[in-house]
Amino acid sequence: MDIEIRALGHIYPGNITALRDVSLSIGPGVFALLGPNGAGKTTLMRILATLLEPTYGEVQVDGQDLFRQKALVRRQLGYLPQDFGLYGSLTVYETLDYFGLLYHLTGKEERERAIETALEQTHLTEVRKQRVGTLSGGMRQRLGLAQAMLNSPQLLIVDEPTAGLDPEERVRFRSLLAELGADRTVILSTHIVADVEAVADTLAVLHEGEVRFYGRPEQLLARIADRVWQVELDREELVAFKEQHLVTGVFRAANRMQVRLVAESLDHPRARQVSPALEDAYIWLMGGGRQDV
Ligand code: ATP
Repeated sequence: MDIEIRALGHIYPGNITALRDVSLSIGPGVFALLGPNGAGKTTLMRILATLLEPTYGEVQVDGQDLFRQKALVRRQLGYLPQDFGLYGSLTVYETLDYFGLLYHLTGKEERERAIETALEQTHLTEVRKQRVGTLSGGMRQRLGLAQAMLNSPQLLIVDEPTAGLDPEERVRFRSLLAELGADRTVILSTHIVADVEAVADTLAVLHEGEVRFYGRPEQLLARIADRVWQVELDREELVAFKEQHLVTGVFRAANRMQVRLVAESLDHPRARQVSPALEDAYIWLMGGGRQDV
């Protein structure tokens, strides 16, 4: 599925601008929307999921206007919102059966087939009889994904699905998204750079409702090529150093500190250039780094 977002904006009552002139092209594979809290990610996802009309701009899905073709798009859409409620006393299977009815999968056989497929796709077949109240956070999120997969969507939208998961569950959830992105369009919102590193084919970085970067991860890295440094500092040097430089990481190294930073040049006897990581580029963008610098 191909999505064209053109000059999109959203203003909430009270004159709160959540999105400003957002233009993006999203194709098959995993597309990540990266940004801090309040950047506008949920607003954009709710618009793409046809739940919220934008204040201005347009969205085309496979050449058709999203809001004129709501019903058509909804049939091909799976959505996992940031907060979704589940009944703890139902089993995994019963939960999907219930969602299946909500999705108008009214034929019993058709619904059973859809549930079996969704269970397999999310690796939940073995816990189908388990009560939802006893599931781990990661399993609950996978169940959320399973409900979003019930209608075999060509477009899967998942809003901050890895927040609150422990590291192992997060890795597992990401691999699942990569698998699902092999034959559909997946839009993932996150504030975790490692999520993007692991699965995104393309990304957009949102900041205060505006797109600060749009492209492939390696294109973002290229923006700061030759500008990432690592320097070993004494503890006393650290405070002043942080005030003067865009520091992207601080690590303890014996009795000194290893500091990463982004700068045009760095004059320090213990400084060396290192290859950029996505985290460096993201902090640089948030710190004011611009596409044209
Ligand atoms: P988070 O991860 O915290 O959900 P986000 O990147 O998803 O952040 P949004 O939830 O889209 O960001 O919010 C963008 C901006 O719009 C924020 O300033 C937020 O306070 C504001 N906002 C969101 N929903 C509403 C609403 N219903 N009414 C008024 N302002 C809102």
